[in-house]
Amino acid sequence: MTEQLPPTTPDVPDTSLAEEEAVRLTSELIRIDTTNTGDPDTLVGERAAAEFVAAQLAEVGYETTYVESGAPGRGNVVARLAGSDPNRGALLVHGHLDVVPADASEWSVHPFSGAVQDGYVWGRGAVDMKDMVAMSLALARRLKRDGIQPKRDIIFAFLADEEAGGHFGAQWLVENRPELFEGATEAISEVGGFSITVKDGVRAYLIETAEKGIAWMTLRARGRAGHGSMIHDDNAVTKLTQAVSRLGTHRFPIVLTDSVREFLQGISDITGLAFDEDDLEGSVAKLGNIARMIGATLRDTANPTMLKAGYKSNVIPSIAEATVDCRILPGRQAAFERELDEILGPDIEREWVGLPPLETTFDGALVDHMTSSILAEDPGAKALPYMLSGGTDAKSFAQLGIRCFGYAPLRLPADLDFSALFHGVDERVPVDALRFGTRVLDRFLRNC
Ligand SMILES: [Zn+2]
Repeated sequence: MTEQLPPTTPDVPDTSLAEEEAVRLTSELIRIDTTNTGDPDTLVGERAAAEFVAAQLAEVGYETTYVESGAPGRGNVVARLAGSDPNRGALLVHGHLDVVPADASEWSVHPFSGAVQDGYVWGRGAVDMKDMVAMSLALARRLKRDGIQPKRDIIFAFLADEEAGGHFGAQWLVENRPELFEGATEAISEVGGFSITVKDGVRAYLIETAEKGIAWMTLRARGRAGHGSMIHDDNAVTKLTQAVSRLGTHRFPIVLTDSVREFLQGISDITGLAFDEDDLEGSVAKLGNIARMIGATLRDTANPTMLKAGYKSNVIPSIAEATVDCRILPGRQAAFERELDEILGPDIEREWVGLPPLETTFDGALVDHMTSSILAEDPGAKALPYMLSGGTDAKSFAQLGIRCFGYAPLRLPADLDFSALFHGVDERVPVDALRFGTRVLDRFLRNC
């Protein structure tokens, strides 16, 4: 049930200035190259981007906190807007300032040009996630400038290092500066709130309620070192590659979590498309562009990505290692490891780094506000929960007990392959979508 919301206050100034700022700020943020290769020595731009954001906030009267998270130049900015009801938990609105690398020779426009043309803002970060950073920043400015007090505290956080796991960003702040997020009970950020057009122009907005866990696993086999010319029956390379091959071709079972089940049910309600439990992957494939993303949330995956062994052609090494990128569904860790025991056997050592999955329910007052704010701007649409197969800074904030959602609203053209734009060539965001998202978020932030 969607609760009855109070009507918009008639004397609240409209959002046209904030909408223009969201477009301008997206472009200006893209022009600050914040490429994060994962190697701290190649770091550029994060400090400049954080200082730019801090200046935009200070200009309208915010007190900002600038924190370098664990290393020089890893700039983060946090600011708080006081709400009218101190008894309510704060809402965290977070976004990362870094982007993945882009090779300019592959692009139609320069990836750090922030060009506004053909109805789009172009450049690396346009959808991941300088769009949401710009909308949040524009609305932080709008609320302050127009003297609008939200009901609850809103904490705006602009963060470093998401693209390399947040160890010099969200994760560092959660471990070292948790007081910056004091009182926060819920959070919104990227990779949710965008539309897909499912049937006859009916749009579904996908609100992220869950993320698969990231588990990067190192496998290690040990054997006896020896000369490559001899008979040798204890070869680490052979043992390791057999195990990697078994794992790489293994299919984990389909397990529907609540988020995925509700998503499929919602799509079914709109389209009449039945999802055959015996051929779920076949059914999901009919969803078009979004199938890649949804398909990856039906089961755990384990993709071998790196191999390392040996140093000379005629020396059998005593150790061989492989890295496997495992993505594990909420609630599946123990079962996943039991399957690994069987697939890998007792002789292969395992080491893990990563972050656990998360899943929250698609209900409650915040979800009602997310849904109604979208429907106010796009009547006839439907909001559905979904699970992200990748990871975001939400994984870090969930460790503080914060309930995390992906809610960066964008109304997208039906034929735009949105998921391909993430880390893709010619990343771009429709100007109309930014304006739409700013209106939706404005309504949401004022009322939630
Ligand atoms: Zn991102």
